[in-house]
Amino acid sequence: MDILITGGAGFLGQHLCHYFVDRGDRVICYDNLITGRRENLQGLFEADNFKLVEQDVTEYIDLENLSGKFAGFAVDRVLHFASLASPRDYTEFPIKTLKVGGMGTHQTLGVAKRYGARFLLASTSEVYGDPEVNPQSEQYWGNVNPLGVRGVYDESKRFAEALTMAYHRAHGVETRIARIFNTYGPGMRVNDGRVVPNFVCQALSGRDLTVYGDGTQTRSFCFVSDLVRGLVSLLESSSTEPVNIGNPAEITINQFAEEVIQLTGSNSGIVYKPLPEDDPQVRRPDITRARRQLNWEPEVTLHEGLAQTVPYFKRLIEDSNC
Ligand code: UDP
Repeated sequence: MDILITGGAGFLGQHLCHYFVDRGDRVICYDNLITGRRENLQGLFEADNFKLVEQDVTEYIDLENLSGKFAGFAVDRVLHFASLASPRDYTEFPIKTLKVGGMGTHQTLGVAKRYGARFLLASTSEVYGDPEVNPQSEQYWGNVNPLGVRGVYDESKRFAEALTMAYHRAHGVETRIARIFNTYGPGMRVNDGRVVPNFVCQALSGRDLTVYGDGTQTRSFCFVSDLVRGLVSLLESSSTEPVNIGNPAEITINQFAEEVIQLTGSNSGIVYKPLPEDDPQVRRPDITRARRQLNWEPEVTLHEGLAQTVPYFKRLIEDSNC
């Protein structure tokens, strides 16, 4: 297949690029490299079936008249993964976040419509905001503060979902929407500000782990290989409704800190910092729909996933990036 992946140099995008290139598909990756990194694509540049275009996806995407190995690129699939995904990043780049979720989604849906491609939107558990129900099923409409600092991300993704459904209904584009819950694994940036890189790097370098708030808030962490498997199943399924993809094993941030300290054998303690504005108090996916429609569920436990993630961060720290 011929596949366009936006945000392909980011944390999730890189895993998708590797997956499809290994499968023998032709992959064109668009990334403006604001938070994506070339290093994430190591090993792909030599491949005949991979190409990176360094461009912001809010600008016109031109896939006509490609030459050489990409001649006649048919655009069978469009995977829209470009976004600022870490709270730290979307707080720093609020307008870019709204633009990539709004204009970038419009642009990439336009590409899918033009070429008759199937479109997959990387949406998020943030569409549920600070949820009043736990776990969250796809039927829940959410509790989002549109004016808060997180609103730029939440609303951009909610708009992206609405636009995706509109292109499906009005133009007949084959669309898929993945609501992705907290995902971790090798390929994350050391300094992206999210809890997994923060805690693991703090523990590995003997610094105290920074728990925001009182640490009673919960998250449910999915290992990246499980997530990629879920996304591929969704892409090849017939589900046009949004589908939660995540691991329902829910823990408090305090428990998570303890787990990281134990697994790394660190002497680090825990220090408490203020809770960021609108930080969701609970988050846990109801994956009934994914189980039924995709026959998918996560297989990697937090313990196993962290055991694969810690050595990755250890290497980065040794290269003194942390
Ligand atoms: N968090 C924390 N310490 C950190 C980074 C994050 O306690 O150094 C908390 C954060 O307040 C949130 C949870 O960990 O409750 C997950 O945060 P993350 O930024 O990973 O993603 P979110 O799920 O909020 O989008």
